[in-house]
Amino acid sequence: MASNLTDRLSRLVKTMRGQARITETNVQEMLREVRMALLEADVALPVVRDFIARVKDKALGAEVIGSLNPGQVLVSIVQKELAATMGEGVADLNLAAQPPAVILMAGLQGAGKTTTTAKLAKHLIEKRKKKVLTVSADVYRPAAIEQLKTVTKQAGAEWFPSTPDQKPRDIALAAIDYAKKHYFDVLLVDTAGRLAIDEALMAEIRDLHALLNPIETLFVVDAMQGQDAINTAKAFKEALPLTGIVLTKLDGDSRGGAALSVRQITGAPIKFAGTSEKIDGLEVFDAERHAGRVLG
Ligand code: GDP
Repeated sequence: MASNLTDRLSRLVKTMRGQARITETNVQEMLREVRMALLEADVALPVVRDFIARVKDKALGAEVIGSLNPGQVLVSIVQKELAATMGEGVADLNLAAQPPAVILMAGLQGAGKTTTTAKLAKHLIEKRKKKVLTVSADVYRPAAIEQLKTVTKQAGAEWFPSTPDQKPRDIALAAIDYAKKHYFDVLLVDTAGRLAIDEALMAEIRDLHALLNPIETLFVVDAMQGQDAINTAKAFKEALPLTGIVLTKLDGDSRGGAALSVRQITGAPIKFAGTSEKIDGLEVFDAERHAGRVLG
């Protein structure tokens, strides 16, 4: 059985006991272990390279002070860099807007947008005591509109009807209008996704963004996407000013390396994690806990 990074690093720490300085060989050995652990966790290769370069810089310049030995100093450099990349603490949704605060959901088809829309509705109702409306601007799949209706009901929120013969922007305008008239605090807008990046759809969601001026633009991404997450993240970051990420399907058996990739590529904080198919399978993302999972 492959040992995890914590075990590997503690073995290195032991071999470095009694040394007064950090040598280049120590650093190389440590970096090799870190690189392997990150790749095993499915962090995208360019992100791993960047991370290793940053740790290397810091490690080579590090002084061994006080009662620490070189191994312990190196381990703490890796941990700090990981926390800095993954984000620290937790970041909840920003709702500081003239009501309704609009939240725009973006992502590929199958990423979990519709499910997450309902999960967020439930979270906002229960944890933030908000009156929440959902609407689907996915006019390409009638089933997607019906799906949102069903899950919104489960969430205890209100669903605003839309039909495939409408234009997404007309749906958005009607929903905003309804939300204002009926004093909703939050409007969650689910959007169409494709199995791969699609220029026409990107233009459409940019148009919706300009029209709705959302306080949150959330990028929903499947944690099981592994290496591919980086390309999806790049495309959505170029199209939209993302304010946060929802990492879905963390209940799967992935080590969650996509978190590191997506965070680094978009620069946006990971705000929530999807942890089951059920309506309550949503957690506020805890970066430190997740860093531990990625390292194994
Ligand atoms: P959309 O196309 O982006 O709207 O994706 P859906 O919301 O329809 O989700 C696609 C599939 O992923 C559905 O079968 C969901 O039940 C499932 N799903 C979404 N989020 C999660 C999650 O956090 N964990 C698990 N296990 N399944 C999820």
